[in-house]
Amino acid sequence: MKRKFTLLIGVSIVALVALSAIQAYLIGNTYILKKKDFLRETDALVSKINDHELLDSLYFEGWGEDLALHISDYKNNRISKNEVLSRQKEKADSLNLLYTTIFEQELEALDLGFEVDYHRSLETIVVYENTTLDTIYHNTSQTPMVLFGTNFDHDEAVNNDNSRWYSEQEYITTQGDEVLTKTYDLEIRSANMMLIKDWRSIVLGRMAVLLIGSILLFFFVIGLLYYAIKGLIKQKKIADVKTDFINNITHELKTPLATLAVATKSLQTPALQNNATAFENTLAIIVRQNTRLQKLIDQVLSNSIHGARLVLHKESVVDNHFFNAVIQDFKLSHQHAQMTLIQEIYAPEVLLRIDRFHMTTALLNILENAVKYAKEDIVIKVNTKVKNNQYHIQIADNGIGISPKEQEAIFEKFHRVVDSNIHDVKGLGLGLYFTKQIIQAHHASIHLSSTLGQGSSFNIILPL
Ligand code: ADP
Repeated sequence: MKRKFTLLIGVSIVALVALSAIQAYLIGNTYILKKKDFLRETDALVSKINDHELLDSLYFEGWGEDLALHISDYKNNRISKNEVLSRQKEKADSLNLLYTTIFEQELEALDLGFEVDYHRSLETIVVYENTTLDTIYHNTSQTPMVLFGTNFDHDEAVNNDNSRWYSEQEYITTQGDEVLTKTYDLEIRSANMMLIKDWRSIVLGRMAVLLIGSILLFFFVIGLLYYAIKGLIKQKKIADVKTDFINNITHELKTPLATLAVATKSLQTPALQNNATAFENTLAIIVRQNTRLQKLIDQVLSNSIHGARLVLHKESVVDNHFFNAVIQDFKLSHQHAQMTLIQEIYAPEVLLRIDRFHMTTALLNILENAVKYAKEDIVIKVNTKVKNNQYHIQIADNGIGISPKEQEAIFEKFHRVVDSNIHDVKGLGLGLYFTKQIIQAHHASIHLSSTLGQGSSFNIILPL
């Protein structure tokens, strides 16, 4: 049963982990798809701005025509490639304000609802003359030369489109005394890039319903599993407790009944009827066993009657009178036990508001246990004192002790420590449960400190 139970919990946890992994995988895929969709949508809108007539003319006529002039200077060895580039950069910078103003106006008109950085960056400038190819610029880095717009890295940016501008150009040069007009082909490639600020939050925002729904569902399933497992554990515990109780009560009832059967049978024999002492002894056995049976039934009954709510009839009781009387009765009923009882009862008289009958039962249950779960040479110490306006009662024994694991459980209904050899020592596992109910009904508390093999100490604190 226990193995089946552990297996069930194990399988449920594995299934939950597997389900969470699948869910995480699906969410990951949805994120990738949503990101693609979002970038595609924005790209479709922003790339239209790049075709704006004015922007085109700034690029081709404003910037491109200057390039042809500078290449002419370069061909005549008046400037270097780097100078061509720096002059072109200067030219672009001078046009940039106008370019960005137009771009921003167009962006605003799109009313995207989020910020976009953009630029047109230079990819290559190549000059073809006859059969020779001369590369003036070729971008290989993530931060290319930006002509228009703002600077940003290309690793997170989106490419709106690339433009390739191919044109035939001329330049005038001299060869000796001769003035020549030469032609060449000019190829300029540029890239229109955009960078959406906080695109991650925007994509996650679009997935909010899915994400929140998944998280809530995940915790809901964990909660359900937790309650199901908790319920199962509780049910199993109740079933175990019931089985234990039936075993215990059967055992408890069997012994006195068997003794009664033997004793009554003996009473019927003439030999015993003629022996007055033996007759008296057997009768005493019958009375004792009868009392024991009565006690057992009372214990079960009082537990079921008071199980719901214990009604106390409190009275003012002088502490040392009360404790001395309880100890006296206890000693009388254990005359034959090898027992030393040390009592240190608080000397000044203190008036306690308690239910005399129930409190006696509570204390006797603890004292009885000190004898039931003892080793040899029983020593029991009863100590009472007043501290911080509270009345402290301590009952300590040198018995078998209780392991830390069991210490909380022994106050539960029907709980018996399995190791303490359940069938050697009689009991129903109700004594301490009932004791705790009585103590709590007095608004007092009971604590146990115990070391296995050395003894136990029950401490009761009553408010004064
Ligand atoms: P019962 O004695 O009828 O089994 P109790 O409720 O009085 O039931 O005690 C519950 C269990 O706690 C006992 O079965 C025993 O294992 C353990 N126990 C109680 N008192 C002591 C003690 N003084 N020393 C060791 N074990 C104890």
